[in-house]
This record gives sequence, C-alpha cells and structure tokens, in this order.
Amino acid sequence: MDPQALDQLREIVGDEYISTRKDVLLSYSSSASTGYDSQMPAAVVRPASTQEVSEIVKVANKFKIPVIPRSGGSSLQGEVIPSPESLVIDLLRLEEIKLYKDLRSVTVGAGVTFGALDKFLKVHDLWVPVSPESALVCTVAGNVAVNGAGPGSSRYGCVGELVLGLEVVLPDGRVINTGSEANPHAPGPFLRYAFGPDLTGLFIGSLGSLGIITKVSIKTFRRMHHFYYDTYGFPDMPSVERFLIELKQNEVHPLFASIYEGRILQFFMDMLGEEYGIPKHQWPPLTVSMTLGRMRDDLLQSDIRMVKKICEEIDGHVIGISELPRGEWEDRMRVFVRSSYVHGWHWRILYHHQTPANWHKSVDAIWEIMDKHGLLGHTAGFLSGHSSYNFYPHLYFFPDDPEEEQKVRAAHKELSRLLLKSGAVPFKLSQYWTDGLAEMKPYLELIRIIKDRLDPNGIMHPEVLPIPEE
Ligand SMILES: Cc1cc2nc3c(=O)[nH]c(=O)nc-3n(C[C@H](O)[C@H](O)[C@H](O)COP(=O)(O)OP(=O)(O)OC[C@H]3O[C@@H](n4cnc5c(N)ncnc54)[C@H](O)[C@@H]3O)c2cc1C
Repeated sequence: MDPQALDQLREIVGDEYISTRKDVLLSYSSSASTGYDSQMPAAVVRPASTQEVSEIVKVANKFKIPVIPRSGGSSLQGEVIPSPESLVIDLLRLEEIKLYKDLRSVTVGAGVTFGALDKFLKVHDLWVPVSPESALVCTVAGNVAVNGAGPGSSRYGCVGELVLGLEVVLPDGRVINTGSEANPHAPGPFLRYAFGPDLTGLFIGSLGSLGIITKVSIKTFRRMHHFYYDTYGFPDMPSVERFLIELKQNEVHPLFASIYEGRILQFFMDMLGEEYGIPKHQWPPLTVSMTLGRMRDDLLQSDIRMVKKICEEIDGHVIGISELPRGEWEDRMRVFVRSSYVHGWHWRILYHHQTPANWHKSVDAIWEIMDKHGLLGHTAGFLSGHSSYNFYPHLYFFPDDPEEEQKVRAAHKELSRLLLKSGAVPFKLSQYWTDGLAEMKPYLELIRIIKDRLDPNGIMHPEVLPIPEE
C-alpha cells in the first residue's frame, strides 16, 4: 500500500489502531466461513467513530484502495475475506448503545453484537426479538449488511424488517441518516419510510458494497415471558407444508418453527441428543419443532389449542417432546451450530428462501445433488416471515481432501442453479448464484448503475456482489 496513504490513515486513527504486521493481518485473512481460501489484506484500521470512518474512506478514495468493512467476521459465505491489496476497516470499536424507550427503538454502533445488545436491553425488560445463531459474535450492523435472520424470524421476519434507519458512510466519505432521523430535529428513530424511497433498504443486504453502516436504529419490544415448546409429527411433505401455511393463515405466529426430515433429525440426535437432554424417539418422516411465545398467557393457551387442532386436522400428531425446541430457543445465542464447529465439520452453505409450499423442492434439490455427487450433507431451516422459509443446506467435505472440496464447490454451483429454477431466492447474495442470475439482467444492471454512481472509483468491497461489470 502507498506509504503516503498509510501515513494519512495513521494520522486519523493513531499508531495503535493501524497495522500492516503479518501476524495481525493473518487474523483478518479468514472468517467463520469454512471452505474459502484465506487471503491477507494490505492493512487494517480500527476507527473509533463515524468521523474516523468517513476520513478513512476519503483517503481510500484518493489512493483508490479497495476497502472491506468487517465487524464480527462470522459470515459463512466468504463475504468478509479481503483481497491482497485491500484495506480492512474493523468496526468493532463503534460500541455505543442509545435507548429511546418511548420510541420503542434503540440505536447501536457498528461494533455492537446481538449478545451485548440483549444484555443491555434485558435490564429494561426489552429485547430485539430476532437474532442470528451467531449472536455472541455477530454484530447487528453486520447482520443488517447481510440481511440476516434467525430465531424469532418465524414471527417477525428477517432482521431487516425491524430496522428503522441507518447511519451510513457513503463510498465518497459523506455521512447520511435514513428513516425519520434524516431529519436532524427528529427525537430519535421512530419511522423508516419517511422521505421518499426507502434508502434504508438500499443498504440492507448490500454486503458493504454501497457504504459502511456505522449505526443501526432498530425496533425494541417488551420481552416475552410466556413460552410453550413442542414437537409435531407428520407422515409426508404435503401435510407438513400445509401445517405451516395453515398456522400463519390462522394468525398463529410461532417465534421459531423448523421442519426436520426424520433421517436428518436422527443424524443430529446421534451427535447432540444426549448433550441437549433430548429423549430418544422413533422420529416420524417429518417433525416440526416449535417455540410459541406470547406477552399474555391466555393468548399463549389459545395458540397452543389452535396448533394442536390444525396439526390433527392434517394427519399430524403432537409428539410431546419439548426439549428439542426449548434447546433451540433458550440456547439460541450459542445454539446447535456451535456444535458443528466442536465436531470439526467443514462445509459450504447455500442459504436461500423458499415458500413453505415449495419446501419439498429445496429438499429434493439438495438430495439430488448429494446423491449425484456422492456427498454428505443436510438440509435445515426455519419459517422466516410472512410466507417464507429460510433454508441452509450444507455440503460437507474433509479439509484434508482438496479434491473432495473442489467437488463440493462445483456441486454447490449446480445446486444454486437448481434452486433458482425451483423458485427459490437467495437469502444472502454470494458468488455461487452468479450463473443462475443471468435471467435477471435488468435487475442486476440497476444495482450496477447505483453502485457505479455511488462509488465511481469502485473502492467499496468491489467484488462481493455477484453483479456483472458493464
Ligand atoms: C455459528 C454461526 C451461526 C450463524 N447463524 C446465523 C443465523 O442464524 N442467521 C444469520 O443471518 N447468519 C448466521 N450466521 C452467519 C453470520 O453470523 C452472519 O452473516 C452475520 O450477520 C455476519 O455479521 P458479522 O458482524 O460477523 O459480519 P462480518 O462477517 O464481519 O461481515 C459480513 C458482511 O457484511 C459486511 N459488513 C460487516 N459490517 C458492516 C458494516 N458495518 N457496514 C457495511 N457492511 C458491513 C462485510 O463486508 C461482509 O460483506 C452464523 C454464523 C456462524 C458462525
């Protein structure tokens, strides 16, 4: 990197918060993503304020240095892995939290994790009811940048749906506020759709390619204290799909609902069942694991009755095992996924959304790919909103076997094409989807136009979005 650029960056953040040392850069060369080649950046800076972020971006623009915004580094599709000549901007020092109790919102700096926010809000008997299963390390801003989802999404939708506004440093260093806070006299964040088009939405899911989110304003809710956990068995795919659709149609909105294929559930239980205290069971072909939550017990009891009725009307039965959903919900900030690291698994993940009615199409697609290539993998997912189901199929490989890893990479590309054909949409965009997106040319061109206009020097996380160059 140009020594002059380094000097100017040093002036902004101070000696302690800039580094080009190999041992430091090494820790920015990878992320939680397994199955991606790591790559060291040229330098890393750790700003402490929006002002510093803005000044850094101006320097990067002047010297045409690609910048990679990084917060928790917990993303799973290689989104935060730098290029060799890039500057990583580590945002974890932006730790401010400001509560607007009467506005039912909170504003957090880009370095605040879901775990830290939950600890803060718990004191006020409040919460943000959706969090990813990486909540202890993943930041709210990072999750907004990828448009994440997780436990709580079955009722409230993706995290983006809770966002009221953002503070963003644009690629030229200008700072904007979106939502009601675009008005400097606003008492705080209270409305997202305030001044014409939804500019907040432009940055949700943009993976840091259009600007750096320095603050997120997000809705808070009174914490729930009434929960019910149960599992429901179904004989086949049509009945389990109908179950989820009918729940929503009858205004029953579980906090978290996952469908498990019997054979996959057994696979998990063999590894984790004992640790989580889940009784041994002859699991049916399909199981729904569900957490219901309500502010009032009478509402909860009514939901429980309605779920049972709907389940039995469509050939299902109440299994009566509560430990599985209880483990998923109560341990949602650390959860099952942690266990996959403990067990040393290596995988590639292909997040996407289907409608509950198309659930079987994703399951069929991943089994088709696993069988065709002789790979080990699994399907998993959860109801993720008004009428969507979030899927995260994994394909595993042995890290010591480069040939098998290549096979998984190729199989994943093939899977992405199959999924798009089946009507699925990406949950988080990533390079996997590129080939299959060819049919969406005008849409991608619009993203390219916006990107080029906002970022004429192309410095802001240049390669993360799978959109073609003009
Ligand atoms: C065990 C485990 C479980 C997981 N479970 C879930 C889950 O349930 N739901 C889910 O959605 N994800 C999940 N993930 C994936 C991951 O946690 C999310 O993608 C997460 O939101 C990434 O946030 P981060 O702060 O770690 O961001 P990073 O990994 O640092 O960055 C992610 C992307 O966002 C960009 N970015 C980061 N911060 C900013 C910013 N302030 N402004 C602009 N761009 C930025 C980066 O450049 C990169 O493209 C899981 C990961 C692990 C390891």
